[in-house]
Amino acid sequence: MNFADTEVVMSLLQQEGYDITTEAEEADYILINTCAIREGAEQRIRRRLDMLRSERRRRPTLRIGILGCMAERLKDQLLTEEEVVSFVVGPDAYRQLPSIMKQVVSGSKAAATELSTEETYADIEPVRLNAGISAYISIMRGCQNFCTYCVVPYTRGRERSRDAQTIIGEARSLFEQGYREVTLLGQNVNSYHFEGAERTWTFADLMDSVAQISPLLRVRFATSHPKDLSDELLYVMRKHNNICKCIHLPVQSGSAHMLKQMNRKYTPEWYLDRIAAIRRILPECSITTDVIAGFCGETEEDHQETLRMFRTVRYDYAYMFKYSMRPNTYAARFLTDDVPDDIKTRRLEEIIALQGEIALENNRAEIGRTYEVLVEGVSHRSPKQLFGRNSQNKVVVFERRNFNPGQYIHVKITDCTSATLMGEPVE
Ligand code: SAH
Ligand code: SF4
Repeated sequence: MNFADTEVVMSLLQQEGYDITTEAEEADYILINTCAIREGAEQRIRRRLDMLRSERRRRPTLRIGILGCMAERLKDQLLTEEEVVSFVVGPDAYRQLPSIMKQVVSGSKAAATELSTEETYADIEPVRLNAGISAYISIMRGCQNFCTYCVVPYTRGRERSRDAQTIIGEARSLFEQGYREVTLLGQNVNSYHFEGAERTWTFADLMDSVAQISPLLRVRFATSHPKDLSDELLYVMRKHNNICKCIHLPVQSGSAHMLKQMNRKYTPEWYLDRIAAIRRILPECSITTDVIAGFCGETEEDHQETLRMFRTVRYDYAYMFKYSMRPNTYAARFLTDDVPDDIKTRRLEEIIALQGEIALENNRAEIGRTYEVLVEGVSHRSPKQLFGRNSQNKVVVFERRNFNPGQYIHVKITDCTSATLMGEPVE
C-alpha cells in the first residue's frame, strides 16, 4: 500500500516539475514514506533518520519529510522529536505536498495531517517505480473495522472506495503499456462499494469488469477480511481464468476468545466455513494468512488453537507477527499487554516452524504438476534462470532459454523448497 502511495506522491510532484532521483546525495528533498503498523516499523525509520543527520549537516539546504502513517500518528510531535525532519504529511494530505515543500525552503517546519472522508486520489495517474510486468492499483483507502490491536483506522481514516471507472481505466492503460498483472489493493477489499452515476459496484462487480479487459491480464487482490468474503466473489473468480487463484485471508488467531478480544467479528467456525467455501468453489486456490502471536491475554491453550488452525487450513504462506502494542488503540487503552516477550517469541517461533513444514509439504505435492507461469525476470539464484509465478502466487524458477518477461509459459514442477518451486518449461 505504501508502495502504491509513493507512486501517487511521485506523480503529484512530477506535475509540479520535480524530478525523482535514487541518489540521496543529489536530492534537495528526501521523502520517507512510513508504516506504523508495528513498533519495529517505526524504529526502522528512526534509525534511518539517525543516518541522515550527517548528510543534513553537510548540506543545510537539504529538506527531509516524513510521509504516511507514522506522520499521521505522531503529527507535530515528530517535528519536535526529530530535529532533522522539516515536514510531516499524512496519507490523505499528499495534494498539499508541493506547497509544503515550498514553505519549508526558508527553514521553517510544516505539517499536514488532516484525514479525509473522500480523498482517493482517483484522478492521479501513478508514476510506476518498477516499470515492467506487475503493478498495484489502490481501489479504496482507510479502514473502520477497528480491530483492537490495529493502528490503521487512526492513521488512514474512514473507509472510502475509489470510482470504479477510474480503476478500470487505470488497469486498461497498464495493460496497453505492456503490464500483465494488476493487484487491486485495499485494507478490506470485500467491502468495496461505489455508487456510480448509472450503477452501484460491489467488489465482485469490479473484479468481473477488470478481468474482462484482457484474458492476458492477470488480476490479483489484497486483503480480504474473512467477515466479508462472499461466495459471489468466489464465483466471479471461478468464471475468469485470469483472476488468480490465491486468497489472502488473515486469520490473526485460531482462538474464539482471542478473536473476540481482537474485535475481528468472526469465530473460528465462521472462518473455517469460508475456507470450506474456497475449497468447494475454487479447489485449486491457494490460501495465505496473517497471524499475531501473544496478543493481550493469550493463554497457552489459545496459542494451541492457533497451531490447530494452521494444521487444519494448511496455508501456502503466512505473514507471522509478534503482537506489538500501538498507542491509543483499544488494546492499548483497555487491555493488558501481558504475554512476556520471551513467550511471544517462543509462540511465534512455533508457528513459524509449523508453517515451514506445511509449506514444504504443500510444495512437495506440486511436483509433477504443470502450471502456467507469467515470466517476471531473471532469478537471483543464477543469470541462467528466470522466475515467475503461477496463478496460486507461488514463485517458480526455471531455465532461461529464449523466454522473456511478460510471456506466459507452461512449467512442469520437478523440485521445491518451502518457498520456491523449480521446474522445466514444457513446449
Ligand atoms: N487490513 C488487513 C491487515 C492490514 S495490517 C486485514 O485486516 O487483514 C497487516 C497485518 O499486520 C495484520 O493482518 C496483522 O496480522 C498485523 N498487525 C496489525 N497490527 C498489529 C500489531 N499491533 N501487532 C502485530 N501485528 C499487527
Ligand atoms: Fe487493521 Fe482490522 Fe482494518 Fe485490517 S481490518 S486494517 S487489521 S483494523
